[in-house]
Amino acid sequence: MSDNNKNPILDIGKTAFSFFSFKTKMIVIGVVIGVFLIIIVPVVAITSIFTPNTKNSSEKKGGGSGSDSSSTSVTISVNEVFDEESLTKYENATFPMPFETWDKNKDVVTSRFSKSRTLTVNGKVQTGAHTGIDIVCISKSSPKVCAVASGTVVVAKAGNTGYGNYVVIQHLSDEGKRFYTLYAHMVNGSIAVVEGSEVKVGQVLGIMGSTGNSTGAHLHFEIRLNDNTSSSAVNPYPYIFRRRGEKVK
Ligand SMILES: [Zn+2]
Repeated sequence: MSDNNKNPILDIGKTAFSFFSFKTKMIVIGVVIGVFLIIIVPVVAITSIFTPNTKNSSEKKGGGSGSDSSSTSVTISVNEVFDEESLTKYENATFPMPFETWDKNKDVVTSRFSKSRTLTVNGKVQTGAHTGIDIVCISKSSPKVCAVASGTVVVAKAGNTGYGNYVVIQHLSDEGKRFYTLYAHMVNGSIAVVEGSEVKVGQVLGIMGSTGNSTGAHLHFEIRLNDNTSSSAVNPYPYIFRRRGEKVK
């Protein structure tokens, strides 16, 4: 028999796959390619996009000595914190700075908004989302923290955990959408507004401090869209230091 010439391995393969009709084979191959394109390619792409960002943001924590960032590292220059493109400040910004004065050559952002931030504080590693940005006004002593937009004070709370002494203002956007701004870690006894009061843009809310989960004087500033929860926080950076070409939600 000429069957002796057959490679038994190939023969098994042929037999197994031949069980299916040509149409079925094409469908199976199509499904395999489809799954690859729809699931695997996007997953790999997303992973490769986000991995370098995470590394960058942890590197850019700067002095990183603060639990909620750190203003002890006041020697950080703006150039070390941001890349050149992001140095454009106030250009088309939605809001003014949340300080009475801001010297762009001295004052700095020490920690960015991040979905997961790892900090080492007194030897302890803390991991979690950083739902705002940390801003330090170095150029002035006892810098005044100011509302970035008019609205109603919904929280004016004294305390020495978490946000420390902090204020939350509820605003309405031009489109009638509700949003909130949060100002944390202010100096004991400095809160200058009460819950329920109306505030104007630029109105003084308190003095930049280090109360709560903080190791150095700084303002932790948040913007929350729609509802007043940390899960609704968005990156405030573009709203006050808008980068060229960056879209604001
Ligand atoms: Zn912070």
